[in-house]
Amino acid sequence: MKFCVLASGSKGNATWIEEGQKAILIDNGLSAKELKARADCRGLNLNRLMAVVVSHEHSDHVKGVGPLARQLDLTVYGTLGTLKAAASSLQGLRLKTFKSGDELDLKFMRLTAVSVSHDAAEPVAFVICGQSGRLGLLTDLGTPTHLVRESFRELNALIVEFNHDLEMLVEGPYPAFLKQRVKGNLGHLSNEAGAKLLGRLCHEGLAKVILGHLSDINNTPKLALKEARRVLDQLGANPDVLAAEQVKPTQVFEI
Ligand SMILES: [Zn+2]
Ligand SMILES: [Zn+2]
Repeated sequence: MKFCVLASGSKGNATWIEEGQKAILIDNGLSAKELKARADCRGLNLNRLMAVVVSHEHSDHVKGVGPLARQLDLTVYGTLGTLKAAASSLQGLRLKTFKSGDELDLKFMRLTAVSVSHDAAEPVAFVICGQSGRLGLLTDLGTPTHLVRESFRELNALIVEFNHDLEMLVEGPYPAFLKQRVKGNLGHLSNEAGAKLLGRLCHEGLAKVILGHLSDINNTPKLALKEARRVLDQLGANPDVLAAEQVKPTQVFEI
């Protein structure tokens, strides 16, 4: 299984996952032109896309889904709550729902949708199983629940939220209500909370860790990576670790 984080952050998210020449996109907050440019520069052919799967209806995840699905005639998958909340941008498209907790079997890969604590209608995160491994996509996570810690075990690669440095958020320019939203139980994970969760999910088989959804105002890749490495060092674990970016795609990873 191959994957590439094409964009990550509050201005747009998109993750490419490919198994045997067939691919899906999880979320698309990019314009069709930008998505194509990013896919092209990593050698990813949009004609391999079989479906778009949506985690939740926030615009940084959904605003490019309608145009892309129309252009490539793709089915859009989401929970009923997500598809209802995003209905105005998905009109006329072929939609399929799944329930959180369900396994979505696309034949060439299987996804398990895990309910998460985030301020959207029915948000989920995903464990994606291909022939050669398991990938977890875990961002937009207000607080790590027992269900999340149980569901995201035994992964070979993990994309995990490291949204903000708490001190930068508290001291930073956001208005008080937004600071409260971001750090609340339905908001986003801090570097500290992301690292703690990473420590819980880390095991011998975890080879790649991608820190995701970093705030460009309240975080830096350097701070996020330092916090992740601190926890991994304590555990004596040594997976590849890098921070995904808003402005350019990661390399294409293989697990
Ligand atoms: Zn988001
Ligand atoms: Zn969100």
